Amino acid sequence: MNHDDLWQSVLGEIEFEISRANFATWFKHTAIQNVEGGIAVIAVPNAFAKEWLEKKFHKQIIKCLRANAPDIRNATYAVTAGEQTQIAQVKKGVDRVEQTDEQLEFKEFSIDRDTNLNPKYTLENFIIGSFNEFAHAAAVSITKNLGMLYNPFFVYGGVGLGKTHLLHAIGNQIKKDHPEYKVLYITSERYVNELISIIQNREPLYAFKEKYRNVDVLIIDDVQFLAGKAKSEEEFFHTFNSLYERGKQFVFSSDKPPQAIPSFNERLRSRLEAGLTADISEPEYEARLAILKLKGAQKEYSFSEEVAEYIASTIQRNIRELEGAINLVIAKSKLKGRPLVLDEVKVAIEQITSSSKKIVTINQIIKTVSEFYDLGEAGLFERSRRREVVKPRQIAMYLLREDYHGSYPFIGQKLGGRDHTTALHAYDKISRELKQDPKLVEEMKQIRTKLYES
Ligand code: ADP
Ligand code: MG
Repeated sequence: MNHDDLWQSVLGEIEFEISRANFATWFKHTAIQNVEGGIAVIAVPNAFAKEWLEKKFHKQIIKCLRANAPDIRNATYAVTAGEQTQIAQVKKGVDRVEQTDEQLEFKEFSIDRDTNLNPKYTLENFIIGSFNEFAHAAAVSITKNLGMLYNPFFVYGGVGLGKTHLLHAIGNQIKKDHPEYKVLYITSERYVNELISIIQNREPLYAFKEKYRNVDVLIIDDVQFLAGKAKSEEEFFHTFNSLYERGKQFVFSSDKPPQAIPSFNERLRSRLEAGLTADISEPEYEARLAILKLKGAQKEYSFSEEVAEYIASTIQRNIRELEGAINLVIAKSKLKGRPLVLDEVKVAIEQITSSSKKIVTINQIIKTVSEFYDLGEAGLFERSRRREVVKPRQIAMYLLREDYHGSYPFIGQKLGGRDHTTALHAYDKISRELKQDPKLVEEMKQIRTKLYES
């Protein structure tokens, strides 16, 4: 396994062991820089990340590293000051296979310094299915009608479903059509960190303000991270107004819709809601199959029908995982000098899936919850406000979100054609109650035990 594949597997496992927010915050832009004498050097983007990984996640990282590469004994962390290109440069290919990988990596890492855009994410290589076609169509029209049509444009959806890809693709397309436009991409995490460091160092704020108020297109990824950070929200609110008044375009992404980001300042929330909101949901089986084939073709690898079907039906959760599986199979095939056969693919894929939670289906969730509460399965779909039905339905919705990673519109639709706000409300309500009600915690535990046994 090369370093990238190894790190992808490690991330794949850690992602399921820690909260989404933590994963997104601390594992973004990390990579294995090298492995020498049994010690893996993990490249991290800043000192914050280094400290957190060392203090909070070191054990988990080591455990997952060893599970995938038994000869690794320990790990250290190195800040690469946002210079991701260095990561690729320090790597030295040992054989032909690795060299081709490396050239690819180098291209992937060449992030534009002015815009922070990654050229590998384009609209051309963004695959469209019914799960993301609305978001994609909106993105395309934005690039053609800057600041006018949908402003701000707000994309939301679960982890690994293409939000970051789409945001970069919008930026890259605009730069291509209008090289003179100033486009700036940033994660809200980095925005917050920049601001914190200015405040801590008692530097004047004007350069920071200048930087963000002097653009034509401002793209902010994972904007939920701003929520509850009063000073950053405040600063951003002014930036937003200043740009908005001058007709500048905004593009945001988040893991949930603006109205569901709990601690967002009301004024900012209503600004974010004011444009167009688009949801990216989980790709259905056919879309996963199409993605697999296209991604394979892009890497000049062709999957046999049975292998493609096996992977697309096993890896359900998101596109990032699907890509991990594709890369793993291709890397192993290159080492063998021939395509893997189905049994070999099964073994390889096992590595990715066995460590993460068992995958549950919608039907398993619905069946388990209705049996647990002694309802007929139809009960969950009933259009009723009876208490005996309402609570189980909310629990089913909660599990569809938390364990199945369904989008809110999808969950609402599945459980009796309800609006996405119903699903959202159910999820929030149960999440809150789980913090206060030990009885509910116990029920949830029992339901999950049944669910994962079945
Ligand atoms: P998110 O930001 O939603 O967590 P990413 O944009 O990082 O997800 O996507 C994860 C991976 O899946 C990336 O490598 C991305 O290129 C790929 N990907 C996601 N959606 C698509 C798509 N529609 N077409 C092609 N690749 C995709
Ligand atoms: Mg992202």
